[in-house]
Amino acid sequence: MNTRALKERLYEAIDRSAEAVERYVRDIQQHPELGFAEYRTAEKMAQFFREIGLEPQTGLAVTGMAADLDSGKSGPTIAFMGELDAIVCRQAPYADPETGAAHQCGHHVQQGVLLAAAAGFTSSGVLQELCGRIRFLGAPAEEMGSSAVCQPLREQGKIQYICGKQELIRQGVLDDVDISMMMHCWSHHPGPLILRGVRNLGAVTLLLNFYGKQAHAAAEPFNGINALNAAIAGINAVNAMRESFDESESPRVNYIITHGGEMVNCIPDFVQVKVNIRANTLAGMERLTRRVVNAFRLGAECIGARMECQAEPGIMPLVTDDTLYNLYTENAKEFVPPEEYQIVPTMPSSSDLGDVSQLMPVLYPMCGGIEGTGHGSDFQMVDFQNAVVLPAKLLGAVIIDLLAEDGKLAKQVVEQYKPGMTKEQYLHYWEKQGQD
Ligand SMILES: [Zn+2]
Ligand SMILES: [Zn+2]
Repeated sequence: MNTRALKERLYEAIDRSAEAVERYVRDIQQHPELGFAEYRTAEKMAQFFREIGLEPQTGLAVTGMAADLDSGKSGPTIAFMGELDAIVCRQAPYADPETGAAHQCGHHVQQGVLLAAAAGFTSSGVLQELCGRIRFLGAPAEEMGSSAVCQPLREQGKIQYICGKQELIRQGVLDDVDISMMMHCWSHHPGPLILRGVRNLGAVTLLLNFYGKQAHAAAEPFNGINALNAAIAGINAVNAMRESFDESESPRVNYIITHGGEMVNCIPDFVQVKVNIRANTLAGMERLTRRVVNAFRLGAECIGARMECQAEPGIMPLVTDDTLYNLYTENAKEFVPPEEYQIVPTMPSSSDLGDVSQLMPVLYPMCGGIEGTGHGSDFQMVDFQNAVVLPAKLLGAVIIDLLAEDGKLAKQVVEQYKPGMTKEQYLHYWEKQGQD
């Protein structure tokens, strides 16, 4: 059977699943959960998989799951991912009153795309005409688990990293996967959209502790060492450096003060700053991190304070695969007018799919159907067809292209791909980072 006819069968099956998937997406939107704590979401997803005849393996990286659909013929394995977690956005319409969780990054939409594609493949039976396997993956904690959630899980040995896909890599869930794909929603675009970022930013998070000496703020501030001033001197030094940042690396440095002192009538002796550093290459990220740490260290020194720096495992820069993207846009032509195709060298965001992209080719298109600002309280899905049905069909069509003719195209993509590192090098990289 030719791929055109298989795609038609898949599209029809996806259309048939749309009503059930939309119900699922609306339900998940109203019950948002944060990273590594998506227990209800995971239960609902597993239930959906079972209803369409798949047998999900649950509890991967705490709340993640994998459901394999096999063609019965040997060939490449393709991971189709959807993320489970929400962000904290207390002003959002369906924010959880307790945790503040809300789906303002659109991961409920991604889950819809994952399930629509899974339902499309299971009910159409098109994979039987192809080869290899599809692994439908519910991936936890893309937005990083909070310290309160991660710390106990680390102590129990359930996780080591801060993001779900990093854990899926570490726990071997992607060991036999050849190619990974998933979509993400883009902001301010209710119509259909075919947007590619060639790269996404990698990110490192630093926890900086400034230690000073407490003293009466009015009577004898000269006998204290002001840890807050040390942090502010560091912040000013970072801001003074900004004009010298290399724009071609799309650098971003953001910070928050997580502890700014205890009482205003005391010179603060402990202040904590959290810094997020991003760039579009690993080397750029490392260079920028060194400069930022130096700036904060000098800030501490000029006040006479002491600074300690803890680096958390971060997120690797993401590189998307040319051939996979060309297949995606080729399939999109019958649905999307030419003016909706966009390509940018660097997407100004990060994803733990970046870590996966260091190990295998990945496809990561941005899609429409959305109004409002990503991570903002006004972000919302306004067009289910453009946000869920269309990306499910297009990613599904790419899988058909890849797994047709004994997986000829998939094998070609894998052969042409140059890995950034091996899995061992990858695990070692984050291990080393944590010790710096
Ligand atoms: Zn996000
Ligand atoms: Zn997201």
